[in-house]
Amino acid sequence: MADVRTGDGTRRSAAPVILLGPPGAGKGTQAARLAAHLRVPKISTGDMLREAIAAGTPLGRQAGPLMDKGQLVPDDLLNGIVGARVQRDDCATGYVLDGYPRTLRQAEGFEDLVGGGVSAGFVVVNVEVPREELLRRLSGRRWCPTCQSTYHVESRASRDGLHCDRDGTLLIQREDDKETAVAHRLVEYDRRTAPLIDFYRHRARLSDVDGHRPVDEVFEDLRRLVEAQR
Ligand code: ADP
Ligand code: ADP
Repeated sequence: MADVRTGDGTRRSAAPVILLGPPGAGKGTQAARLAAHLRVPKISTGDMLREAIAAGTPLGRQAGPLMDKGQLVPDDLLNGIVGARVQRDDCATGYVLDGYPRTLRQAEGFEDLVGGGVSAGFVVVNVEVPREELLRRLSGRRWCPTCQSTYHVESRASRDGLHCDRDGTLLIQREDDKETAVAHRLVEYDRRTAPLIDFYRHRARLSDVDGHRPVDEVFEDLRRLVEAQR
């Protein structure tokens, strides 16, 4: 993976950071902080798909019904949108992936796309959270349909508990955070995404992080890990 020169003149690797973990593990929350800290883009496939739905594009029309039910969107579509996104100039100094890859076919596609057929240069972090805590987080998650910020009714409420702190939009519950869709998403995770932990453990630099702690503590571990490896 190529080295890049940063603003302060130091060199560092542009290795992509991949956050793995089940729905509700805190990937989006941590990816936003890590990307801001490293000054690289956060690439969230869930956010990209929800933007496509809001814009009414063909991708959005295909993805919307699958997402609402808690099913995964086809691999080729995901490899296509991520492939196009990581080629943009702002990714030249690295980026943080949130929610991709999610299947072996995506992991292999991504490897071919940016790793020259190997994952060895990727920094992969597996965020671990017990199942009952995932259910608590997902059922209480609230979301801003304008800027895609995420809140939680108990642990991260907005200032007035109802509206987004950034733009004042009324917060809503995502359709796929309702009970039946959540059950589907956890099954999809176990069946199709969890195997990526072994995939990367053997082929990349994978670290496990205990995600069942306050956001700041999880971030501190993540930051140290990633800085040591970039
Ligand atoms: P993911 O992207 O992995 O699905 P999110 O970052 O959206 O996860 O977090 C899911 C929910 O849990 C959100 O409501 C978020 O505010 C909350 N959350 C995230 N990290 C923590 C944490 N460390 N402790 C408690 N709640 C958290
Ligand atoms: P979470 O991390 O909380 O599960 P995301 O916002 O990452 O939620 O994803 C929401 C939904 O978008 C997924 O349940 C799935 O339908 C779709 N999706 C997002 N990323 C992918 C992906 N890499 N492959 C297939 N489907 C995806």
